[in-house]
Amino acid sequence: MDEMKEKPGPAEVPPPEVRYMEMELVWKCGGCGYLKPREDLAPKTCPDCKAPREEFYLLTED
Ligand SMILES: [Zn+2]
Repeated sequence: MDEMKEKPGPAEVPPPEVRYMEMELVWKCGGCGYLKPREDLAPKTCPDCKAPREEFYLLTED
């Protein structure tokens, strides 16, 4: 059935612009506001203000 083809499995990664439209999780530095994509782990220290990882928190953007 053609309908099967139009429904990609969960393994398929949508293009960046689509992901941007969806709820996006990012790490945000509490010290300077530096943002880092959620796909990565929180940095040990902020590359901008050298704040420790504890300063980073998950920010939900939608
Ligand atoms: Zn920072």
